[in-house]
Amino acid sequence: MNKNNYRGRFAPSPTGDLHFGSLVAALISYIQAKTHDGIWLLRIEDIDETRTVAGADQAIIKTLANFGMHADEPVMYQTNPERQAAYQAALDHLTQSGLTYPCVCTRTKLAGSETYPGFCRDQIIDHSQPHSIRLATGNEDYEFDDFWQGHQLQNIAKQSGDFNIKRKDGLFCYMLAVVIDDASQGVTEVVRGIDIMDSTARQMHLIKLLNLPQPSYAHFPIITHNQLKLSKQNHAKAISHEDPYTLTHLALSLMGQEPPLLQQKTQSNLLNWAIENWQPEKLNNLAKINY
Ligand SMILES: [Zn+2]
Repeated sequence: MNKNNYRGRFAPSPTGDLHFGSLVAALISYIQAKTHDGIWLLRIEDIDETRTVAGADQAIIKTLANFGMHADEPVMYQTNPERQAAYQAALDHLTQSGLTYPCVCTRTKLAGSETYPGFCRDQIIDHSQPHSIRLATGNEDYEFDDFWQGHQLQNIAKQSGDFNIKRKDGLFCYMLAVVIDDASQGVTEVVRGIDIMDSTARQMHLIKLLNLPQPSYAHFPIITHNQLKLSKQNHAKAISHEDPYTLTHLALSLMGQEPPLLQQKTQSNLLNWAIENWQPEKLNNLAKINY
């Protein structure tokens, strides 16, 4: 990749404050972008409005700033009407291509099926009923070379089958929005946790169908605490009142970066050290970043 054209992003959901796991994710994407002399973008993934916590977006932006990470371009919001229009245009394109169909299946009906069994695919559906919109897919294989995880082969039929791109409640699905947003922000490398690597084939499929530029992928090891995946759901502690230098030093250590004790213990010195001395291959040896 041309060094100076690198564009990376951090894309948190505004469902609460940043926790240590999201800090590590932010740091990895930030350092990976800056070590390429690249652009680092921030996207607030508020597409699922039912999960949004009021004010969480501003709290996230403020915490990132306290940790020395500032987006290089205006922050993108998925609820922005412009974004919603872009998702609708993509959905219209897929529908006009005959690739979508309404699905009235309930959670109960689908309970126990790991992949969508195609119940609604060839049915005439009463559109007045609440319905989601699914993408009709085939036996699609996708391969990619992941920066950290190496060569990957994923099959959509085995992973999900026909998947939703618009929900029954009318909200667009994350899977559709994320590929359109990455293209719109010109993201060249998607840096994110390995826990969502399974969604890559579905995203590559949408990218192909929508003629979007294909980014490369870099899935870093899962971040755990006492061997549990860290997430807002398991009440990982908010970091907004923690000391940025201390916590960043810990995060870098857990990433195998061996940060020194700097004479001038400032966050900007530490981030600069991390960018100049970034050894991303150290993450290859970690299945988990546990602390
Ligand atoms: Zn259905």
